[in-house]
Amino acid sequence: MAGFRTHITFSAALGAGYAAAAYALFEVPLPTCVLAGGLCGVSGMLPDVDSNAGVPLRESMAFAAAVIPLMMLDRFGQLDVPTEWLVLAGAAVYLFIRFVVAAMLRKYTVHRGMFHSLPAAIIAGEFAFLLASGDDVRLRIYKAGGVTLGYLSHLVLDELYSMEWYHGRLRLKKSFGTALKLFGRNWWPNISTFAKLAILTYVVLKEPGWLPQHYGNDVRPTVERTATTMIDRVVR
Ligand SMILES: [Zn+2]
Repeated sequence: MAGFRTHITFSAALGAGYAAAAYALFEVPLPTCVLAGGLCGVSGMLPDVDSNAGVPLRESMAFAAAVIPLMMLDRFGQLDVPTEWLVLAGAAVYLFIRFVVAAMLRKYTVHRGMFHSLPAAIIAGEFAFLLASGDDVRLRIYKAGGVTLGYLSHLVLDELYSMEWYHGRLRLKKSFGTALKLFGRNWWPNISTFAKLAILTYVVLKEPGWLPQHYGNDVRPTVERTATTMIDRVVR
């Protein structure tokens, strides 16, 4: 099993590449590149939040509790409410993640359960997409991609570490196939994971104008509409 440090080193290196490539090749604004690269680095420890005790759960919960309210502040800032309310809402989200979510993860997750799976990697990215602010859907997809990439890097590394050389032969450990998987062995976590995936995918595609934007009565760009426009352009 790859250790915490190996995971973080690997995903941080990937994140740096992800940021540099977008900046150099696609002229993505630098702050967006740095944020997406950073998200990729941090996401390399996300799947191990199911390991209950230890560094990954504590660190990622502390980090998420600090970062998510900040990302949401930006989003809620588009609502016309007094700043004091925003600060209070941010504090409430912080406490909720730090204590309630952490306690639930500790209670309900099994190590190498569905947190170590391909659908979970997509779910993590979809969450990031919904949290990410900005009018340009492509940049939000890019930030979300950083999370999914970091998450996937963890799963790949776990699988690589489940192989070893033994007397000149490649041997598979018992953990082989438990990280980079579509389904787990128990039906309930499978159903619950795929239900979450379906709901989030629907929300991401349709993302209704749940927050007032400066588009007036105009339609907001959703992933679905952006994709349709891009396909239209290619076809014509
Ligand atoms: Zn792991």
